[in-house]
Parts: sequence; C-alpha cells; structure tokens
Amino acid sequence: MLIVMRQDATAEQINAVAEKIKALGFKPHAIPGSERTAIGITGNRGSVDADLFELLPGVAQAIPVSQPFKLVSAEVKPERTVVNVNGATIGGESLAVMAGPCSVESEAQILACARAAKAAGAQFLRGGAFKPRTSPYDFQGLKEEGLKLLALAREETGLKVVTEVMSPGSVDLVARYADVLQIGARNMQNFPLLEEVGDAKRPVLLKRGLSATLKELLMAAEYIASRGNYEIVLCERGIRTFETMTRNTLDLGAVIVLKQLSHLPVIVDPSHGFGLRYGVIPLARAGVAVGADGLMVEIHPEPERALSDGPQSLTLPMFQELMQQVRRVAASVGRRI
Ligand code: PEP
Ligand code: MN
Repeated sequence: MLIVMRQDATAEQINAVAEKIKALGFKPHAIPGSERTAIGITGNRGSVDADLFELLPGVAQAIPVSQPFKLVSAEVKPERTVVNVNGATIGGESLAVMAGPCSVESEAQILACARAAKAAGAQFLRGGAFKPRTSPYDFQGLKEEGLKLLALAREETGLKVVTEVMSPGSVDLVARYADVLQIGARNMQNFPLLEEVGDAKRPVLLKRGLSATLKELLMAAEYIASRGNYEIVLCERGIRTFETMTRNTLDLGAVIVLKQLSHLPVIVDPSHGFGLRYGVIPLARAGVAVGADGLMVEIHPEPERALSDGPQSLTLPMFQELMQQVRRVAASVGRRI
C-alpha cells in the first residue's frame, strides 16, 4: 500500500499518517517527491484497508502496490532516484563512471589507477579490498590495508570510493572507509548482509547474482530498502549462460526491464560481463546506448601482472579511449559524463 499525500499536506499530517501505520504494527517509509510526498507501508501480511487512510487529513489517495518489490518499484515513485554520494551523483542526466582495479594491490597501483580514472573523467574509484574468490588459494585482498589505500587515493584525487563488503560482521569496518558499499554477485542473496547494509548509512551498489532473475535482484534491493536505506544502485554484470566463449553473458535487456520496473539507477559492468579486454569498450558503449545510468570498469596499470581479473582489465590508455567513445554515445542518447 502506498499513501499519496496531497501536495499541500503539512508535516503534521504526514507524521499522523506515519503514526497510524506504526499503530497498526507496520513500518512507514516516507518517499519524498518533487510534487508530493508518498508513504510506503511494509510489514503487512495481506492487504491493508485503504479506508483506514483515505479519510485522514492531507491524504490524496491510498493505492495498492501490485509488485512484490514495493519500495524499489516504479509504482511507488514515478520519478527516478538520483543517489547522491557526497556530491557525486548516480542517476539523472550525467553518467556515473566507476573505474579501478579488481583488487587493490599496492599504493603505487591504486594511485596510478585513481589518477588515470580521474584524468579520464570518472567520479568513482572502485577497488576490492575483500575479494570473493572461487578458489581459497587465490589472492583474497589486502583487507583493511586495502581500504586504507583506497582512502589515500580518495584524499589525493577526490574520487568517491566504491568497495565490496562480504560479510555482515565487516560492514562497520568497510563503511568507515567506503563512500559506496558494493554487494558482489555471489552475495546478492546473502540476506543477513543485505539487512546489515540496509541499516548502514551508506549508498549500496547491488550486483546481480550470477544466476539471479531480475525479480530476485529487485527483491534483494527491497531487503535493503525495507531497513530504511533507499540509496541503492543496481548493477548488471553478466549472467551465466550456456555460452563459454565469454566469461558471462551481459544481459543488456535487463537494464531496460529494471528501469521500467524500478526507480533505482542501473549501471552496467562490461568487465565481468564479458571477461576479456577486447569486449569491454564495445559493451560499455552498448550499455550507455540502452540507457544505463553509469558504468563500472576494471582497469590496471599492468593488467598482465594483476592479482585478479587481469584478462578483462583495461590498460590505463584503453580506459581513456573508452571514455572518449562513451562520451559520444552518451551525447547521442541525451546523457553526458
Ligand atoms: C568485482 O566487482 O570485482 C566483483 C567481484 O564482481 P562480481 O561480484 O560481479 O563478480
Ligand atoms: Mn573483478
């Protein structure tokens, strides 16, 4: 159920609706819009009686929400969400670009990536300090040392830091350094982790699971929103199909569906989506062409020496080329970087 307030509703009237929702044992979620405020209701099992609200002062309408993902659905919020990360935005006309190495490896490596990302026009530095690896014998990340290096690179360049958090117990630690908390594909349905980042006061980048449907992705986002954190960015990063020539199959149709069904920004990760360097620039162009709100791209000063995901990492000059090409596509679809 969504309670839409009249345009002239007062703060007291909005508050009274929220109190009524709480008195019924449910949870109110204020969804401010440029025209009017709406209040989403969660925690109910079965439908809520619209009459309970429609007669309250300041209420324009009580609308049932048909999608199971309520707070993140386009039904509850006609305007698109723009996530503001300490001044850098994701969503809206301007594209958000996140670039950096798969793993933070050293001070020299992360600073080289950060400088190149900044010079080419990215607003975010991505880099893993806690790495989810298929093999327990592979490099697992520099952990807190890696977080410190990301913070150092932010200090020098002003780029906002995006980094993965893998366990509920490390959310506090990662949030001390990160501007955006990344939930990796393998953790998309780690529900205790989703709840923990839902409680954290940080924007969340939620990557689609390797075999997750779009409904499952939106329900995972709903876990985060249901805890009161609405600063969520969805990421299409390729799914597992029968194809073996590429690491994953980048599902560009997903971007279109997600933007139809949800008000959340959607970005594309062509690096994991293809797995090989030569496909990254074309798929970055394609992602922007279908309406992605931004890109996440892996770069490395020496990809052949990378401790993870070297084959898909762009060299620093290649990233500059990507940005030039993407700028042209962006302009043709009414976006800019
Ligand atoms: C990553 O961004 O480096 C990463 C591990 O991605 P994913 O979770 O999509 O595999
Ligand atoms: Mn990676």
